Amino acid sequence: MSLAQFSKTAIRNLFHKPVTEKYPFVPKEYGERTRGHIENDISKCVLCGLCMMRCPSHAITVNKAAYTWQINPFSCVQCNYCVEGCPKKSLTMKNTYTKPDTQKTSVVLKYSAERIAGEEARRKAMIEKAMAAKKAAEAKKAAAAQEAAPAGTGKAEVQ
Ligand code: SF4
Ligand code: SF4
Repeated sequence: MSLAQFSKTAIRNLFHKPVTEKYPFVPKEYGERTRGHIENDISKCVLCGLCMMRCPSHAITVNKAAYTWQINPFSCVQCNYCVEGCPKKSLTMKNTYTKPDTQKTSVVLKYSAERIAGEEARRKAMIEKAMAAKKAAEAKKAAAAQEAAPAGTGKAEVQ
């Protein structure tokens, strides 16, 4: 670069706003459509596991038995695939980046105690209903078999 070119650039830059940002002293402004990090509204989530199956980087873990939904934000590549596939629309892509950390910590969300109690009661009722239906079917089958048996094949009565 010639001295003339250098002087021109230096003078121009004296009157320009700096192109760099004084982060973290000046907070970063994100664009509206910036893909930053995933958030889950656990009150809407049904722990179906679809997001876990769709995630290409295995960042999400759903544990239905423990009523937890977990994400490792440092493994997420912000592809938005989980958001698009969530049937309950509980996932959203936020336009702020995950805060830096010295460890790859996970975010674990769990159902509230009331919701867990409700789920347990619902499961118990379903099991009881299934057991009752099974018993009724068995009784019906036994009655039909007894009716269909030819006369005289039953046990002789002891006199
Ligand atoms: S797909 Fe949606 S509803 Fe299903 S487990 Fe993931 S966040 Fe929850
Ligand atoms: S945005 Fe993509 S990488 Fe991140 S959790 Fe969702 S599916 Fe996985």
